[in-house]
Amino acid sequence: MSDTTATSIWWIRRDLRLVDNEALTAAAAKGPVVPVFIYEERVEALGAAPRWRLEQSLKALAAGLEAKGLKLVLRKGAALDVLRAVIAEAGAGAVHWGRLYDPASRRIDADVKAALRDEGITAQSHAGHLLHEPMTVKTKMGDYYKVFSPFWRAIEPLGVAAPLPLPARLIAPEAWPHSDDLASWALSCDMRRGAAVLARHSTAGEVAAWEKLTRFIEERAADYKAARDQVATEGTSDLSDNLAYGEISPRSVWATGQAATAAGMRGLEPFLRQVGWRDFAHHLMFHTPHMLHDNWREGWDSFPWSEDETDAKVQAWKYGRTGVDFVDAAMRELWVTGKMHNRARMVVASYLTKHMMVHWRVGERWFADQLIDFDPANNAMGWQWVAGSGPDAAPYFRVFNPDTQLQKFDPERAYFKRWIAEGQREPPQTALDFYEAIPKHSGLSPKAVRPQPIVGLKDGRERALAAYSAR
Ligand code: FAD
Repeated sequence: MSDTTATSIWWIRRDLRLVDNEALTAAAAKGPVVPVFIYEERVEALGAAPRWRLEQSLKALAAGLEAKGLKLVLRKGAALDVLRAVIAEAGAGAVHWGRLYDPASRRIDADVKAALRDEGITAQSHAGHLLHEPMTVKTKMGDYYKVFSPFWRAIEPLGVAAPLPLPARLIAPEAWPHSDDLASWALSCDMRRGAAVLARHSTAGEVAAWEKLTRFIEERAADYKAARDQVATEGTSDLSDNLAYGEISPRSVWATGQAATAAGMRGLEPFLRQVGWRDFAHHLMFHTPHMLHDNWREGWDSFPWSEDETDAKVQAWKYGRTGVDFVDAAMRELWVTGKMHNRARMVVASYLTKHMMVHWRVGERWFADQLIDFDPANNAMGWQWVAGSGPDAAPYFRVFNPDTQLQKFDPERAYFKRWIAEGQREPPQTALDFYEAIPKHSGLSPKAVRPQPIVGLKDGRERALAAYSAR
């Protein structure tokens, strides 16, 4: 019999990949590896689209592991209970996992580490979800950063650790612990018929992520700066969901970008800077976790935002029926693809929080339910940035005008036509997919007449600015 205490558990969090995975590498270094994904409270709390996307990612990871002779063990329950049970079943001596920085994950990490170590088990968490961990970036005064530009200036010269290769040896244990069947978790069920639509518009997994990155660098990165705001153009990397689930590491993205630059390619800096924004969002979440649910700036607590989710206007916003072309096109893109162009995210968020005077939390929650790239830090930072309540936020008086934004960033109206069927004799499939994605009972039809704006752009702007002045 072999010494099973050489067996290690790779507890998979948001690192569903084999390349550049410190936790997997550490687990594989000692002997056999048991990859375990736990359906715990953080998974339970996910919205419909992120859960659907997680299922796709787990399927892809299971296939990747199988190709290497390993299995993906799926278990449900509190993380510590499940880990204890799997340790006992596998006779394992160590658990390795990738760190996350939201308050709930940090609490779970601390509890798991303390309890397992008490029980004589090696319990080790690892970096890899970010370019730089939030606790390692500090101002000269030892404080955290509240503004992106100095944060970026501080991390740029630090360099980024080189990504790790695929572990040379991945050894299977002699016997596998019990695993749930993925289908029994029913991760797609809340998507209902929308799941089939999303499946047509997204790809998941490590292989797909690398293909996207390679294609982006070869075909689009040089024009990124000019194209990234053009909403009808495929001008960005589309990697946000892959990064959210850790199907590719930011360090791999960084290293690939640097290698292309060293090979003479120009134009990657603005793209890598956006990956830096992702780090910044996590930096803020780590140091000021209240930003996930409350105004980062307390001065906004008295602002007269409505938080009534049942308001018909909020429903119109969610279903792309505000009568404002850019907003409606973008909200439908979200239903169909589980994503939305960054420019469009800013415009719909501005319309909701400023013209409609609805609390950013309402929009944040909707995005958390609908986005396949949902990331708590990026989402909260994005919403608070637009609303004006966040650090380094857009000033409140900068109210996006959705019509002028559409003229500027969709001059041919290609984006509008891609997503809005009404008024088109032969609408494209993308616009029709919306009616398949929404619940049947919504009663919407591509033959309907476009509604009048629920809040006029001029009136809404004036009302918001007046409320801001009275604050
Ligand atoms: P690229 O332009 O190719 O950028 C590369 C990567 O950098 C992205 O994949 C992403 O990981 C990161 N990134 C880019 N822009 C930002 C940004 N502004 N903030 C933080 N990271 C960024 N992004 C999410 O990943 N999840 C969210 O839940 C999310 N919610 C948002 C909500 C609002 C209201 C706003 C305004 C933005 C939000 N973003 C969110 C940021 C951004 O819109 C998406 O990351 C971007 O659209 C993804 O497209 P891409 O992968 O082609 O990005």
